[in-house]
Amino acid sequence: MNPDIVIVGAGPAGSATAILLAERGFTVMLLDKAAFPRPKICGEYLSPEASRILDRLGVLKDVDAAGAQPLSGMRIIAPDGTRLDGAYPTAGPWRAYRDHALAVPREILDALLLERARSLPVTVAERQRVTGLLVEGDRVVGVRAEDPEGRSYEVRSRLLVGADGRGSIVARALGLLRPHRLRRMALVQHVGGLAGFDGRGEIYVDPPDYAILNPVAPDRVNLGLVVPLRHAVAFRGRMETFFHARLKQLRHLSPRLEGMRPVGRLRVLGPLAWPGKLLAAAFLSVTARTAGFNTVDIGALTAASKFILILLMFIGGSPGGTAGVSVSRAARTRRFTHSMASPVA
Ligand SMILES: Cc1cc2nc3c(=O)[nH]c(=O)nc-3n(C[C@H](O)[C@H](O)[C@H](O)COP(=O)(O)OP(=O)(O)OC[C@H]3O[C@@H](n4cnc5c(N)ncnc54)[C@H](O)[C@@H]3O)c2cc1C
Repeated sequence: MNPDIVIVGAGPAGSATAILLAERGFTVMLLDKAAFPRPKICGEYLSPEASRILDRLGVLKDVDAAGAQPLSGMRIIAPDGTRLDGAYPTAGPWRAYRDHALAVPREILDALLLERARSLPVTVAERQRVTGLLVEGDRVVGVRAEDPEGRSYEVRSRLLVGADGRGSIVARALGLLRPHRLRRMALVQHVGGLAGFDGRGEIYVDPPDYAILNPVAPDRVNLGLVVPLRHAVAFRGRMETFFHARLKQLRHLSPRLEGMRPVGRLRVLGPLAWPGKLLAAAFLSVTARTAGFNTVDIGALTAASKFILILLMFIGGSPGGTAGVSVSRAARTRRFTHSMASPVA
C-alpha cells in the first residue's frame, strides 16, 4: 500500500518529520541511501534550545545516555588573542530550555532519531537511493528509487518531503539548486590528545579562516576549520596536507593543538552555503505547486517541527484530511509566520 507521505533523507530533518507525522497517524515511508549509523560532516554542536526539540521528539534522554557532552558556554578567541568567555544564561528572560548546549557525534544523534522514528509506524528503508521524482501534470506524486542491487522501483504518496540535505535530488529535480556567492570550505576531523577544556567549546577567529573545537566525548574533540574555497583548490587530492598547514597558520590555535592526534578521518565539504530560500524550499518541497514558501533556513530540527504545521495545512490535520492546495498564499504566509512563533504541540 502506498504511504501518505514519502520522506527522502533520514537525517535529523527527515527523521524528525517522520516522527511528528507518524504521531499524528499518517503512514510514512522514510528512504535513505545510507545505512545508519552513517557519518555526516558537522560541528556536532546543539544549542541549549535544541534540547527542547529533542525532548519533544522523544530522544533527549537517549542522547544524554549516549554520552552527549554538556557545554556551559563558548570561548571566542579574537585575531589579536583577546578571549571572550560566554556562558549560557541560567536565569532571566534569555534562559533556554536547558542551561547548557550539547556536543554529540552525528553518528549517534542521527541514529537515535532514526531509531525513534522506527519505533513508530514508520517504514524505514535504508540503502535505498532516490533517483528521480514521479511528476504528473504540475504535481509530484512520488519517487523513483533503487535498492542496493540497483533494481529500480516507484513509490507513490500524497505528499513528498525532500529532506535529502545539501545536494538534494528533490530540490535538483524541481530546479531549486543554485550556487551561492559565498564560496567557503569546511574541513572537519575528530582528534584526541587535547586537554584543558572547561566545559566550553572554543572558536578561533582568524580571517579569512575560523576554527572550532567542540569536545564531543572524553578525549575526542570535533576540530572544524573553515577557509575560502579558492585557497584549497591547489591542494586537490592533498587535503590532509592543506588542513595541517592551514591549522599552523592560525596563530592562537596552533599552540593549543600541541599533542593532537587524529581519531577519525578528515572530512571535507565545499562550497558550504546555499541560498537560504532555496535550502528551505528544497526542504519544503511538498509538491511542485507548493515549493515557494517565504522562509529562512532555521536549522534542521527546528525546521522539521515548524514544517509539520505547514504540512498539516496542506493535507489537513488528520490522515483523512483533504489536500489543502486551495489555502491562499497570504493565508499560508500568515499561518507559517504564526507557526514560527509557537512551538509544535
Ligand atoms: C561543516 C559543517 C558544520 C556544521 N555544524 C553544525 C553544528 O555544529 N550544529 C548544527 O546544528 N548544524 C551544523 N551544521 C549543519 C547541519 O549539518 C545540517 O543543518 C544538518 O545536517 C541538516 O540535516 P538534514 O536532515 O536536512 O540533512 P542531512 O543530515 O544531510 O541528511 C540528509 C540525508 O539524505 C540522504 N540522501 C541524500 N540524497 C539521497 C537520495 N538521493 N536518496 C536517498 N537518500 C538521500 C543522505 O544519505 C542523508 O542521510 C553543519 C554543517 C556543516 C557542513
